Amino acid sequence: MRDSPHMIQAVKGTRDILPEEVGRWHFVEEKARRVFRRYGFREIRTPVFESTDLFARGIGEGTDLVLKEMYTFTDRGDRSLTLRPENTAPVVRAAVENGLFRHGSNRLYYIGPMFRYERPQKGRMRQFHQIGVEAFEPNEPSVDAEIIEMSVAFLTELGITATDLVINSAGCNLPHCRQAYRGLIQEALASHVEELCPDCRRRLRENPLRILDCKAGCRRFLNELPTLLERQGPECRDHFNETRRHLDLLEVQYRVDPQLVRGLDYYVQTTFEITGKSLGAQNALLGGGRYDGLVEALGGPPLGGFGFASGLERLILSLPPGVGEPGPGPDLYIATLGRAADEHAMLIARELRKRGLWVEWDPDPERSLKAKSRRAGQRQARYILFLGEDEIRRGVLTLKRMDGGVQTEIDASDLNRLTREVGDA
Ligand code: AMP
Repeated sequence: MRDSPHMIQAVKGTRDILPEEVGRWHFVEEKARRVFRRYGFREIRTPVFESTDLFARGIGEGTDLVLKEMYTFTDRGDRSLTLRPENTAPVVRAAVENGLFRHGSNRLYYIGPMFRYERPQKGRMRQFHQIGVEAFEPNEPSVDAEIIEMSVAFLTELGITATDLVINSAGCNLPHCRQAYRGLIQEALASHVEELCPDCRRRLRENPLRILDCKAGCRRFLNELPTLLERQGPECRDHFNETRRHLDLLEVQYRVDPQLVRGLDYYVQTTFEITGKSLGAQNALLGGGRYDGLVEALGGPPLGGFGFASGLERLILSLPPGVGEPGPGPDLYIATLGRAADEHAMLIARELRKRGLWVEWDPDPERSLKAKSRRAGQRQARYILFLGEDEIRRGVLTLKRMDGGVQTEIDASDLNRLTREVGDA
């Protein structure tokens, strides 16, 4: 099969989630729903594609994400559409469009696939899945601290404890804050323009702060520069100090890392990231921060925003062993012989399924009773019910526990008894 020239394979950077691993996905998704609900978050589901404009405006035209990583295409109606590379801008769009801000604050979460044209490696895919939250609330440091605390609680509930939390402040758009810092970067690099990578030469003109994020190493020219954390205005400094005080109050362990840069332009003030110690190079488990201004920029009220997103693939790679393993198999497997037995099995199966039991049977006329009971073992059924020629003739059913228990004969019409026996595991 593998070498057949006709076989079509999954697209590079995508993968299938197979039945034996899906239990781990359910485990993470259910934990997320449960933890987030305790903090007042409600789920929202938005489309996987949006107008390209939304991301260009929302994330920032000069970011790598928008310039290099989007799956953008023109549809048959000549619209420019993009598969969502992240979900904060879509959630804001949906909340504004559907009037969710009528009553002010909102706490929303989402779970779903995202798409980025990146170089695939372990923990980095082109289609990957994120669980994320967005708290649309007035700018209060207690919000930053509470959502960070929730992200830690979420990981703890998943059993992922070998982690590092770092926080930083991205400053704000006031002239004496980030803008002044942009000027400092431009000054510091004025004599190094020729040595910068082509991307950073453009960044120097359009978006100098993104040079801090350069993967080609241009940041080395800025080593002498004071950090943005040291140079931000008093409003941002106060906000950061208050956020830290609240984190201490909530007993959250963290480290301040003035070098932490997030890849999207909309962040202001607090940013944070949690890395996992058991992951390889792609060790970011979860990241986010404050994005005041985005709601207004997308047509909503002047509400602040604070959120994070976490990669499901990386969470699943970090789970302790044994979590979300597939459970036991069916409650009952019916092994039949002959057409009459098949029809009877079908009716029994329907009746027991109605009563909530997991029942399987196999109508293959080529298989012997013996082969079918082997199959019951492979499926890890708890009980097997024999329905051969002898049983049909005598109007009975033979029930046997798969773990070596005794056989019981049950009147073929006594489904209540059958349900009781199988149901009382
Ligand atoms: P970001 O939206 O870039 O802040 O990413 C948030 C989280 O999503 C990261 O911490 C990762 O866990 C996950 N993530 C981002 N990009 C990818 C990717 N290409 N493949 C898998 N997970 C990703």
